Amino acid sequence: MTIHRIRLLGDPVLRMRSEPVTNHRSPAVRLVGTDLKETLQDLKARHGIGRALSAPQIGAPMRMIYVEIDEPWLLLNPEIIDVGVEDFLVWDSCFSFPDFMVQVQRAYHIRVNYLDARGKEQEVDAQGPLAELLQHEIDHLDGVLIVDRPAGLDPFCLREEWNKHYGDVGLYGEPTPRHEPLASAPI
Ligand SMILES: [Zn+2]
Repeated sequence: MTIHRIRLLGDPVLRMRSEPVTNHRSPAVRLVGTDLKETLQDLKARHGIGRALSAPQIGAPMRMIYVEIDEPWLLLNPEIIDVGVEDFLVWDSCFSFPDFMVQVQRAYHIRVNYLDARGKEQEVDAQGPLAELLQHEIDHLDGVLIVDRPAGLDPFCLREEWNKHYGDVGLYGEPTPRHEPLASAPI
């Protein structure tokens, strides 16, 4: 059980395609699951924010993500198996490049298939902020970062500036049918 340093933008492990979990009982999987939990809880305690981490962010290129919103939630081999007909714009951020915000376009509804910590197959429907969060973390497993997905005319912003100029507007735009121009969060 270890609290890990978060791997930062430029570290090649963030660009690897992570390997699927083949045995949910293996010591490596259990160890990475515990370390993700402890590392996220440490980040939350120190920064007051943080809802999820992916295994490559602690240097383990395995298809595992750990989410903690209300309860601990470990997802092994998560895969998006369906997307709804609407997208939305989100000002997103990532522990691998703190204080740098990127506006991205995400599906508003998704369905995700995964194995839980006991190796049982599960499906979850997610919408809005949770859908965005899962898309962000699943992207990490393919070596994709939000800096690869800028959307809109001026999609990059330091957090300090974001707070000044967009803070009142909020992180999430309105769900909009795909292929129509997306609106930012309502002012
Ligand atoms: Zn991230």
